[in-house]
Amino acid sequence: MGTVLGYLRPHARRVACGVTVKFTAALLELALPLLLEYIIRVCVPARDLPAIWRCGGMMAALAFGAAACNIIANRMAAWVSMEVTRSLRRDLYSRVEQLSCAQMDRFSTSSLVSRLTNDTYHVHQMFDKVQRGGIRAPMLVAGGLALTFLLEPALAVIQLAVSLLTFLAIWQVTRRGIPHYAKAQAATDTVVRIIRENASGVRVIKALAGQGRERQRFQTVNEDARRKEEAAGCVMAAANPLTDFLLNTGLVLVVLVGAVRVAAGEMYSHRIVTFLSYFALIQTATLGIAKVFIRISKGAASARRIEEILLAPEDQLLCPAGPVSGGELGMERVSFSYLGVEKDLTDVTFALEKGETLGILGPTGSGKSTLAALLLRLYDAGEGVVWVGGRDVKSTPKEELRSRFGVVFQNEALLNDSVYENISFLRGLSREDVTAAAKTAQAWEFIQRLPEGLDTRLDIRGANLSGGQRQRLLVARALAGRPAVLVLDGADSALDYRTAAALRRAIRRDCPGVTLVVISERVASLRDANRILVLEEGRIAAQGTHGELLENCVRYRHIAELQEGVLL
Ligand code: ADP
Ligand code: MG
Repeated sequence: MGTVLGYLRPHARRVACGVTVKFTAALLELALPLLLEYIIRVCVPARDLPAIWRCGGMMAALAFGAAACNIIANRMAAWVSMEVTRSLRRDLYSRVEQLSCAQMDRFSTSSLVSRLTNDTYHVHQMFDKVQRGGIRAPMLVAGGLALTFLLEPALAVIQLAVSLLTFLAIWQVTRRGIPHYAKAQAATDTVVRIIRENASGVRVIKALAGQGRERQRFQTVNEDARRKEEAAGCVMAAANPLTDFLLNTGLVLVVLVGAVRVAAGEMYSHRIVTFLSYFALIQTATLGIAKVFIRISKGAASARRIEEILLAPEDQLLCPAGPVSGGELGMERVSFSYLGVEKDLTDVTFALEKGETLGILGPTGSGKSTLAALLLRLYDAGEGVVWVGGRDVKSTPKEELRSRFGVVFQNEALLNDSVYENISFLRGLSREDVTAAAKTAQAWEFIQRLPEGLDTRLDIRGANLSGGQRQRLLVARALAGRPAVLVLDGADSALDYRTAAALRRAIRRDCPGVTLVVISERVASLRDANRILVLEEGRIAAQGTHGELLENCVRYRHIAELQEGVLL
């Protein structure tokens, strides 16, 4: 909680100012019943109408002053809490951006999103409510109780007991209610997820005539969300009636005990009126305190979740360079595991000269994409050395390392923006560069035919493009930055053989000197590579040129025969 509280520090003066204004407002509110008593005790029996008007006017002035102070203080509180939340969200966002992929995996994307949205909201609410009610309510309760004890200890005891009971009742009810609300929130998240899956998978669902099943699935989670909301509502339904009941019982007791004492000549009757005023004031303030406590407990839980991210240690530091065995890019006895359980890459060694092409072939799950991720230092190799540009990636600043790369990953998304912006990708590239990249990526022909060419807006999932068109746009994006190393992970999977061959030729022609890493299921895409790795369960089963592998690697020959045979 400390780190999040620290965000208040720059606004300490404003907070202190707000607290003082709130304090003044509470004093004004506490004085009201005393004036009322004065009117009833002194002015009314004396039938002093001008005095009644004077005191009444003063009461109005006090009430007005209190309201004005509260408005001013609430505005200051709102300003501070919004400002705090804004800077908290800003820092959280930039920290999330810098998390390593391993940390991202650990926190999970959806939890990061909910920390950035839900949790910052709860922290905002906490700061807001504590500043608004955190001073006023305790002041009113403490001041009110002190005054009533001075005036009539017997009635004050009733007051105290009812206040305590009210606080306990609210506290208990909400404490039981909050877990139900957490469950209801999770159920709502599921509903949202299903809607999202449906919206994005709408073609498959239609194609497989799955609407009926989908509707059933939606109804199930929808019903579940309703049931959980209902459970939370059932628990919370007790809160208001309980506090009303306590308030009314307290009022009855005050009147009863007061009447007995008045009858016995131990108290003036007007005291009862004063007491009833204080009673209502204190009771409302007690509810306020309980609400502030609930806000704090929710806010503190969220603050902890936010701090988990803010304080997550930097886990990919710059290290002294390990020995590299030359060449532009390569690995030396590299092993890696995502979860630390079983190895996803084992003992990988290869090297590549500048301008050469590396091909990677292997069944799904054999570690091809993982190998590319290690080159970019998205993850750190557990053992061994990875180098790019002749330098250990762990000793290269991340920006420098990644600026060397142009990458197409599998399942990459497009921006909901123009074709130009999708290729330039917030790098502010000139239209000439974008056009040139599109031409090399074999994308220019279809871009020209789009209704507004480069300025055509794309759907976020690229639903208004074919799979192959999307893929070529992504290649253009990777090429547009003029990278030294180009990584294409399955970038040909949706291209026909002729387009894929044209793309390979164009890259070689337009990007002389680029070092290529091509991951593909197709032998045809790899056959010209200087070196091909055949991966199997995270190990290099064989490596060499197309010709060497045809001779020495049964598996490669088998795949080649299957594919080329079909082709011929
Ligand atoms: P390929 O690209 O060859 O299909 P990958 O490199 O994507 O294979 O995956 C290799 C192995 O690592 C698979 O067993 C996969 O389940 C696992 N894996 C991939 N990404 C992650 C991740 N983020 N967390 C945990 N395991 C992963
Ligand atoms: Mg892959």
